[in-house]
Amino acid sequence: MTQADPKLSTHLIHHPYQAPQDFSGPQPPVHKASTVFFENVQAMRERRWLDKSSYTYGLHGTPTTYTLEERLATLEGGLQCLLVPSGLAAIATVSLALLKTSDEVLLPDNAYGPNKSLAEGELAHYGIRHQYYDPMNAADLAAKITPATALVWLEAPGSVTMEFPDLIEQVRLCRERGVTTVLDNTWGAGLAFKPFDLLADGGSLGVDVTAHALTKYPSGGGDVLMGSIVTRNQPLHMRIKLAHMRMGLGVSGNDAEAVLRSLPSIGLRYHAQDHAARQLAQWLGRQTAVVQVLHSALEGAPGHAQWKQLCTSAQHPQGVAAGLFSVVIDARFGQEAVDLFCDSLRLFRIGYSWGGPVSLVMPYELPSMRHCATPQIELGTVVRFAIGLEDAGDLQADLAQALHIAFG
Ligand SMILES: *Cc1c(COP(=O)(O)O)cnc(C)c1O
Repeated sequence: MTQADPKLSTHLIHHPYQAPQDFSGPQPPVHKASTVFFENVQAMRERRWLDKSSYTYGLHGTPTTYTLEERLATLEGGLQCLLVPSGLAAIATVSLALLKTSDEVLLPDNAYGPNKSLAEGELAHYGIRHQYYDPMNAADLAAKITPATALVWLEAPGSVTMEFPDLIEQVRLCRERGVTTVLDNTWGAGLAFKPFDLLADGGSLGVDVTAHALTKYPSGGGDVLMGSIVTRNQPLHMRIKLAHMRMGLGVSGNDAEAVLRSLPSIGLRYHAQDHAARQLAQWLGRQTAVVQVLHSALEGAPGHAQWKQLCTSAQHPQGVAAGLFSVVIDARFGQEAVDLFCDSLRLFRIGYSWGGPVSLVMPYELPSMRHCATPQIELGTVVRFAIGLEDAGDLQADLAQALHIAFG
């Protein structure tokens, strides 16, 4: 072995060239690190990972993740943000950070399914009890709050069946009882309404925490998994941040960069998908096989009035909604016909998640998903659509040909 090899390898790592540090371009740079260097031992001892004044370790943040966190806090109208590897990790982190043995957590019966599974699995194992409340009956939520209730999950609208609850009333009554509220804000995404300022008066009423699957609209590509936890209260943020740190949660610099790159177009994409989704939902409502359209922005849908109260404004007189809705297929058509309908679609792909460029379809078996009765939902099979960025006319033609094949 020659002496040149180790010299070269050392040289390639400890190279004297330093690029000028004043590079400036449209996208924030991608910083990737586990190790972060300290100038000297004293600097290492003085660094604090609890705020964003410096850097200590990759898991505690880089310029890339700090930048994304600040932009996401702004998106939702909060002050602090934590990044986690998925939307479900955001849900789990909030529940594990804020609940302890013998506490009780309340979830809406139409909550995102895996949130309910977490309550029934890990939370139950840790001696944390849960109850499901009727999202469309504020009195039911009020009746289920007990001195043991430490956290109430909210979703507006609920998953799959899309009922829009009276979020203002729900938050108000949790506030009165001193119970912490956390909203799964994936649907609203910070664009349909302001979760920390529900009365649009500067923040006299709002949720305490939001969990957001960045996987959906903020990513916009169907190719990144990430979640955020936003708060507007420093002590509450610190409680969650400590649990977040102890559980070793973090996101990759490349994924953070992908979301940073998509974030400037989130409003354009959200409104475009909203526009196309309403057009298609209305059209589907006129088809004979469809007995109900579950889209908060449409007259007659469950929670339409509550949606209108929260999601319309002077700036958006027609209101704002995500490009997501479900329909109920007439019960005279069985599961086989519904499956054939989904399989016959060509542009709509069968898949989970949403907020990306490709339109998606998914059939659901409602009875197996619910504990409370669902009198607002007609009998039949629920099919959910997530509208992508394709031409709405092409999507309508695709729906028409599949309806014809499956339902005649
Ligand atoms: C997709 C979704 C999640 C979970 O996000 P992942 O990143 O897929 O874990 C949570 N809540 C809602 C309402 C969602 O739609």
